[in-house]
Amino acid sequence: MFWSRASNNANTFVFNGGSIVRTYEDMIGEIVSALEEANRVVITTHTRPDGDAIGSQLALGNYLSSKGKKVSMINSDPSPYNLEWLPGSEKIIVYDGSLEHVDMIASADLIVVLDTNNKMRLGKPGDSIKEASVPRILIDHHTDPENWFDLMWRRESASSTAELLYEIFADWDLDGIDSAVAAPLYVAIMTDTGSFRFSNVTPALHRMVGDIVERGNLDPAQMYAEVYEKRSVEGLRLMSTVLSTMQLHFGGLVGSMVISKRSLKDSGASIEESDGFVNNILSIEGVKVGLMFTETERGTKVSFRSKEDYQVHKWAQSFGGGGHRNASGAFIKADLDSAIKRTIAAASKFIDITTSGQDEGISDEDADYLSMLGVQN
Ligand code: 5GP
Ligand code: MN
Repeated sequence: MFWSRASNNANTFVFNGGSIVRTYEDMIGEIVSALEEANRVVITTHTRPDGDAIGSQLALGNYLSSKGKKVSMINSDPSPYNLEWLPGSEKIIVYDGSLEHVDMIASADLIVVLDTNNKMRLGKPGDSIKEASVPRILIDHHTDPENWFDLMWRRESASSTAELLYEIFADWDLDGIDSAVAAPLYVAIMTDTGSFRFSNVTPALHRMVGDIVERGNLDPAQMYAEVYEKRSVEGLRLMSTVLSTMQLHFGGLVGSMVISKRSLKDSGASIEESDGFVNNILSIEGVKVGLMFTETERGTKVSFRSKEDYQVHKWAQSFGGGGHRNASGAFIKADLDSAIKRTIAAASKFIDITTSGQDEGISDEDADYLSMLGVQN
């Protein structure tokens, strides 16, 4: 059976496209009841967690702890360095497969998966989470959820997982949002909306954020500084090198940049400091799609970002990745040059490049670019 949100009424769910059997309020109510009744809750999120992942996890963890629940926050990867100041951050455990960690998941009576809907993206604890015999709740805003969750609170149009979490808190008890819940919620929404500028930012979201700021007595300037004004000199040096790799394709419709292993090493920066570089591409007038290629030991990570109706999630999916319509990622098990070629060559299948007045495929300019990168064609 499947549940979907009826397009003509935002507050109604329909069963198999047929008669209306359950309302939006029922669904959120079931999740609140499950959380209320649980004693030991495991909360997990995706590999290489970002601000929405960690912020949502800490907001829910701190909220449930103050409701008297025993909370375990377990992830496959460590948190980014610029989020370590968030309240409760020190309680997040990096899963190592030890008996203690296996037992932590096995002894939970409820599991909550945040900001991904995909077992692979959970990393090392993914199998134990998926196979757990207790209810698994999904709270997420990505496309194409897997079908093993028992309860779901999801909406692709939501700006962030944190926005969906706030809706759950609103149904349960808004007064539970103290500063230890508000700060991670705010950071999650700020980071996932590019500081409140993406197309899924609505008046309602601004009102929600206003409420979060008031309840937590937060200082937005301080929140921004804590997250974004922590760059190292090395990080900025890396940015300047990466910006210089900027290349335009298809008459300026698509822009790309490269982070090579060498430039990373030469800069002395850590790879986390490159987070957000890709957005610089979209600041060029006329560019609708930004691609960042990051060279790693095992292959090439591709970050896709887009504007307006230029959708990139299927493009990322075609390389085994996924994400959102305007922000996706994939990992291509190939070296930098072939990953770039394959990604650019596939563009016309996923976006309309005809408006750019150029042929699909690799232009002479792109070929020059590849050779500049030291690519053997
Ligand atoms: P980023 O480029 O920042 O790593 O990822 C952007 C978005 O794409 C993430 O929020 C995530 O939803 C999605 N994403 C990134 N990498 C992958 C991947 O390997 N698989 C899937 N399914 N989604 C990804
Ligand atoms: Mn998110």
